[in-house]
Amino acid sequence: MKILKFGGKSLDNGLGIAKVLEIITDNHKQELSPVVVVSARGGSTDTLLALIDKARKGEPFKEELSLFWEHQTECSEIKFEQEQEQLLRLLTGISLVGECSLKLEDEIVSYGELLSAKFVANALERQGYKAVAIDSGDFFVTDSQFGSASVHVEESREKCLRLFGQLPSSCIPIVTGFIARDREGVRTTLGRNGSNYSAALLANFLDAEIMENFTHVDGIYTANPSVVPEARKMDELSYSDAAELSQFGAEILHIKTIEPLQDKNIPLRVLNTFGYGSGQNGTLITSSPKAKSVRALASLSQKALIHFEGRNMLGRSGIDARIFGAFKSADVSVSLVSQGSTERGIAIVVSEVDADKAVEALHQEFRQDLLEGKTTKIYAEKGLAIVAIIGLNLAEFDRPYRALVRNRILPVLLNNAVPDNTLCLLVRGEEERIKALNVIHGEMFERPKRVHLAIIGHGTVGGALIEQIIHQHTQLKEQKNIDLRIFAIANSRQLLLSHTGIGEGWQEELKQSASVNSLAETIVEYGQKFALENMILVDNTSSEAIAAKYPYFASNGFDIVSSNKKSNIAPYADYIHLRETLKKHRRSYRYETNVGAGLPLIDNLKLLHLAGERITRIHGLFSGSLSYIFNTLTEEPSRSFREIVEESAQRGLTEPDPREDLSGEDVARKVLILVRELDVAAELSDVNWKNPVPEQLRKLSLDQFWTRFGELEKEIEELRGSCSPDEVLRYVGDIVWDNTKQEATLTAALKRVSKNSPLGRVSGADSCFEIYTESYGSRPIVIQGAGAGAVVTARGVFGDLLRLAEGYES
Ligand code: ASP
Ligand code: MG
Repeated sequence: MKILKFGGKSLDNGLGIAKVLEIITDNHKQELSPVVVVSARGGSTDTLLALIDKARKGEPFKEELSLFWEHQTECSEIKFEQEQEQLLRLLTGISLVGECSLKLEDEIVSYGELLSAKFVANALERQGYKAVAIDSGDFFVTDSQFGSASVHVEESREKCLRLFGQLPSSCIPIVTGFIARDREGVRTTLGRNGSNYSAALLANFLDAEIMENFTHVDGIYTANPSVVPEARKMDELSYSDAAELSQFGAEILHIKTIEPLQDKNIPLRVLNTFGYGSGQNGTLITSSPKAKSVRALASLSQKALIHFEGRNMLGRSGIDARIFGAFKSADVSVSLVSQGSTERGIAIVVSEVDADKAVEALHQEFRQDLLEGKTTKIYAEKGLAIVAIIGLNLAEFDRPYRALVRNRILPVLLNNAVPDNTLCLLVRGEEERIKALNVIHGEMFERPKRVHLAIIGHGTVGGALIEQIIHQHTQLKEQKNIDLRIFAIANSRQLLLSHTGIGEGWQEELKQSASVNSLAETIVEYGQKFALENMILVDNTSSEAIAAKYPYFASNGFDIVSSNKKSNIAPYADYIHLRETLKKHRRSYRYETNVGAGLPLIDNLKLLHLAGERITRIHGLFSGSLSYIFNTLTEEPSRSFREIVEESAQRGLTEPDPREDLSGEDVARKVLILVRELDVAAELSDVNWKNPVPEQLRKLSLDQFWTRFGELEKEIEELRGSCSPDEVLRYVGDIVWDNTKQEATLTAALKRVSKNSPLGRVSGADSCFEIYTESYGSRPIVIQGAGAGAVVTARGVFGDLLRLAEGYES
């Protein structure tokens, strides 16, 4: 004999009910003697409760009632005339008196299961099977706790065996779940989702070989898959782990379901009605599952924390007893409890609906103490959620905990209940609950670490970066366990958002996306709405306005990666403000590409400085574009300066307006960025910067500039002429630290340097940085290589991203 239990969603019209009938008849044909237990069909219990509510408030309910009947009788010949009449009478009565007792409520909701059993039995008969609908109230005897009655087990067992003993053989019993009667024969129910419990009791009474629980999901998961997409189905579970889980996931397993099964060692298999016939194995619950330990996550929303604070409570006995006494008389059930060793207060978790009642009860009980100031505060903090980690050893909690902190979730309370192996965290709000579940799940099951990127700017660097990320996505996921997801791409006008990740075709989608006003705010709110973890802002613009938003992003949980120099050359006060904000919110900011494109310069400089190495000078070719122009001038003496500059501009080696590079301002900025790395509070105005572009050409339009280019060329040619045969021209950045004066001299200027010096030997568009330090003496550390170009810069940004993402792992 086996018990087949079907949930409400399985029994709904359409595919569900068709599958249910198929499952029952298959089992019958295989002579497995199925005993069927049914829930109310597709949300009927909720509809009935809603009808009661309407009637109670005196609102019209007939329309909803007729919809209910349509739903119940769809595609069926039974019309439930008698039940229709009874239900209408009951509801009318409620609407007349304007109230409904729990007793009456039980009577009304029981129709859900009664109709369901009759419907299924009737459908089977129409297919030529013998079936009988059984009201479980004919054998389940309970106390009179309406709404959530307790079963008198032995009495019920006896009645059940008698009833089933009288059933004709080869007839399929279709039994209602959830409903019962008290000793006076008055209708009771076993509590919401109680059908599983009914089925388990029946399995126990009838000594079933197995109970199969057909639901609308594939089994029991390591977390709710609709909240944590990576949740995995568990193949096997022990009774005790299942019981632990059922405390939280009451929808699949009612809290009391396990005990009657465990008592007789009856296995329970949770299956999907809709997957019937596809060879599913669901989740099998037994006393000896294959895997010894299970790990899973569960959560409960709508909790409140009751704070009770007082003075001189240390050592005073009886206060806790009074608190719990007050709760008992107010009928408030207590969940987590936390009390510090100083006994200055106690915090108790209750259901949000009970919060006001609980506070009121405490106020009454402690009225005198409040007056005397012995009790100082009693209040409720609502909108909390419990996240439960089942099966995690405390010694392994460091990883999930660090991940939580990194994602700005600081649990209000941590509870490591004795003796279960469950660790509970109390968090604030739905967003935190969802984020916490995902973050912890990722750490416990080592799913690829999700990193969420908001990329602003998709010009040459940004565009190249997006392509690189999209191309590397699968490889990174497989090899590095990092799932790099672009959730936002923006330019100055438009914003494309997708919390599941933007991929190929983004250009088109971006064109079609809406324009935005407050870009930063929209991105931050979106990240919050979808509770995205590990968020990074990637700025590839040259916008001052975006740079000014970095503190805002940082304080909202974003790390920052940027090729944009604007924030690093901002006034020093702003520079420091950003760093303080980053520190306060434990955020990182990486900008390796600000100087020397992808070359590993800033990281190395930071490291040297941090290690206490005194840096005495940084000297070099800081601009790849200028490097190219002056190198070519030396290497190809036959070409004119104009030709070279034109060619560089055409190849994108300089800005479209080459004056931006030729002016040397970019070098001056880099000088500033580097010297600030050494904790020198310099401003851009402290850099002694020489602009080789003559004054009169600086303000001209680009066209006019080209027309009068000769004036610049003349100056350059003169300089070239003044070089001795072993000298060449280089635009040099220089930072010199004077330790006695504790002062840095900062210059950026076009200079004659020896052909055989390191700077003289540089070729192509290379940048070159000579770092002189105290211990290295006169032999500098030289960092040299491609210092300009979209692709290398994009690679550098990518490198920064990966460094951050890898940090998220440990
Ligand atoms: N129909 C009841 C409910 O929705 C019992 C059950 O489905 O298990 O709570
Ligand atoms: Mg249900």
